[in-house]
Amino acid sequence: MSKVLIIGCGGVASVAIHKCCQVPEVFTEICIASRTKSKCDKLAAELAPKTATKITTAQVDADKVDEVIALIKAYQPDLVMNIALPYQDLTIMDACLACGVNYMDTANYEPENTDDPEWRAIYEKRCKEAGFSAYFDYSWQWAYAKKFEEAGLTALLGSGFDPGVTQAYCAYAKKHEFDTIDTIDILDCNGGDHGYAFATNFNPEINLREVSAPGSYWENGHWVEIPAMSIKREYNFDQVGDKDMYLLHHEEIESLAKNIPEAKRIRFFMTFGQSYLDHMRCLEDVGMLSTTPVNFNGQEIVPIQFLKALLPDPASLGPRTKGKTNIGCIFTGKKDGKEKTYYIYNVCDHQECYKEVGSQAISYTTGVPAMCGALMLLTGKWTTKGVHTVEEFDPDPYLDALDKYGLPRSESHSPALVD
Ligand code: NDP
Repeated sequence: MSKVLIIGCGGVASVAIHKCCQVPEVFTEICIASRTKSKCDKLAAELAPKTATKITTAQVDADKVDEVIALIKAYQPDLVMNIALPYQDLTIMDACLACGVNYMDTANYEPENTDDPEWRAIYEKRCKEAGFSAYFDYSWQWAYAKKFEEAGLTALLGSGFDPGVTQAYCAYAKKHEFDTIDTIDILDCNGGDHGYAFATNFNPEINLREVSAPGSYWENGHWVEIPAMSIKREYNFDQVGDKDMYLLHHEEIESLAKNIPEAKRIRFFMTFGQSYLDHMRCLEDVGMLSTTPVNFNGQEIVPIQFLKALLPDPASLGPRTKGKTNIGCIFTGKKDGKEKTYYIYNVCDHQECYKEVGSQAISYTTGVPAMCGALMLLTGKWTTKGVHTVEEFDPDPYLDALDKYGLPRSESHSPALVD
């Protein structure tokens, strides 16, 4: 019996909301609140006849902390699920603290305007000290740890697939398969085809920023940074086949390095097709990925936002996307003094997801873990106060919930390793 405020009503939120409505005994009441209320109303009207969950909607600009506080005070939720954009993480955390409510999200904070001088000064200091240059990192949200702890509240960070399930896979490997973990390779493969020459599977601005940034990995206690897309491997993925994958910086490496300190190397690879990479390079070369506003015919335009307006809406890819995703982690390490390897992963079918919730697998593989993370907090399975990432909690009930609600695990005890 709980009341949940869900902020955001895009691709990922829509899946999470569908899934919450499949568990009305826990999600008794939900309020869907977003910048554009009409999208919330449309989804609520679609779901209301099919669920016992009571759904209301609201308009909120989550960049404005006062608006979020007013909404929380009016609705009185047990939990706020932030499934808007990473830009809103801090304002929503502030509002949760002000109102004494638990918080969760699916991606760590990054600023909308990376030219903001105040943010830039802190960012440049971090680049030098930490040794990686991604715009996003955990420092902003980890800085809230004491405040959440003192308030007796929990903030669960990054309960999507990666970050999210991948960290639960690490916690599971640590708990059940290894005494010590030596290396972790996170492999994110999208074998889906949507038929467009170029489109992104989730918010284009966030996606293109991530993919065009330098890659980096954790080795022997420090970051190694490399030019974007400069480390390429081929891997044969179960139920997908051979794919080219590239080493990227990814946020969970940062928390895993902290929470599994014995790991000597942690890397993240994502598959990309040649057409995607050619388009991205070209767009980057002509300045279309820039976040710095340009003046065009007397109007200020942010190039990447203009590009977003031209690209297919990720939510519209659902009916066209065919194929499967395969995301998981390969470990090497030791158990009972012996060397061993282990691979745990999920395979998800784009068309099956579309049939069930009207979305492709990228939104599905993020929205289901968002619901399962909320389920852990609301049913008292995860209760540690403070600000925590997924690998800090017991992985067993979370992986059981994922098995049950659409993302079952597969495993191999003799996987091919990535060199
Ligand atoms: P979308 O762009 O599809 O949706 C974002 C939603 O947030 C929209 O409903 C948007 O409203 C709303 N929103 C944006 N700004 C505000 C604001 N100021 N106030 C209130 N609402 C706002 O994004 P996705 O669904 O693709 O992604 C959602 C989140 O999931 C992102 O943080 C993304 O990084 C993360 N993600 C995480 C993954 C993981 O595995 N962990 C994988 C994929 C995504 P409007 O309709 O008005 O634009």
